Amino acid sequence: MEDKLMTGPERAMKRGRPETIKPTSIHFAEMFGPVLQGEGFSAGVPSIFMRQSGCNFICGHHNGNGVGKIGPDGKEITWWCDTEVVWKSGKTWQFSEVVDWLKEIGEWDRVMTGHTHIIQTGGEPTMTANAEAFMALIDYMRKVWKEEYSGIILEKMAPSSNIKHYGTPDTLPIMSLLPRVETETNGSVHGPHLDKLFTEYVSQINCSAKLANSGMPYSMRVRPEALEQIRKHPNHWWKFVVSHERDWTEIMEDYGPDLFHKYPEEMQRIIVMPAGSTTPELNETSQVAWNMAVEHNVRFCDRYQVRVWEMATGK
Ligand code: SF4
Repeated sequence: MEDKLMTGPERAMKRGRPETIKPTSIHFAEMFGPVLQGEGFSAGVPSIFMRQSGCNFICGHHNGNGVGKIGPDGKEITWWCDTEVVWKSGKTWQFSEVVDWLKEIGEWDRVMTGHTHIIQTGGEPTMTANAEAFMALIDYMRKVWKEEYSGIILEKMAPSSNIKHYGTPDTLPIMSLLPRVETETNGSVHGPHLDKLFTEYVSQINCSAKLANSGMPYSMRVRPEALEQIRKHPNHWWKFVVSHERDWTEIMEDYGPDLFHKYPEEMQRIIVMPAGSTTPELNETSQVAWNMAVEHNVRFCDRYQVRVWEMATGK
């Protein structure tokens, strides 16, 4: 076949290597902002949420049907996924539409200089298709930004105050990645695609590792290879949703052998967060979480989006 009649992949095959066709669009269950990050280590940071679809878990079982029942690990299921309806819906965005939207809402410059964080969430954003599409989107955004600001060195445009805020020499290189992306994950996925995502695109990993109270079985929740891949990122956090004092015992039983007993310094990266999708529910569990944090010398975080807006998503 003549070269000019061949498609790109055919030409690549002739040259003896497969051609990677990069995505030009991405499916978001929802994208919204600017809002504030409501949970975790960077709660309060101005943010754009990019929620990807699909999850390999179904915490609390469909529509919370498992709550109050005994789960597969013989423990009571105490909470459910309050974004299930959202991450099962959404629409496909061309990459150029994402950039146009960020410009329309006046956030493009703030996002690309790291003032406003991108929260890559889900669903489960580390699943291969989600991660690949997201990396391609960020590549596209960087390309557009570079073309618009050719001649200006990106790093010089990063707000130094934010970098200082994160503070430790270890985190400085990773925090200078722009745009500044926080990835929220259940910590069960691993693979080479995540080496790339975590080293070239993500400034912070918020791992919400699940306990038996999620209703997900141990064999799915606790994946040592996935935990290890996250642990290697210089700015990672282990966030646990708790509702009872006994949850601490579970955290240590489930995640001690691969994390907290093996690497005691990882204890400094634990954040306990009260379970609850409404303020009355949070009020019931906050004291438990607070006392747990004090007793075990770990961090506590609230769920500000629930306290302020009484909803789990969209504000
Ligand atoms: S891992 Fe997260 S998104 Fe997936 S079902 Fe559980 S709470 Fe929902």
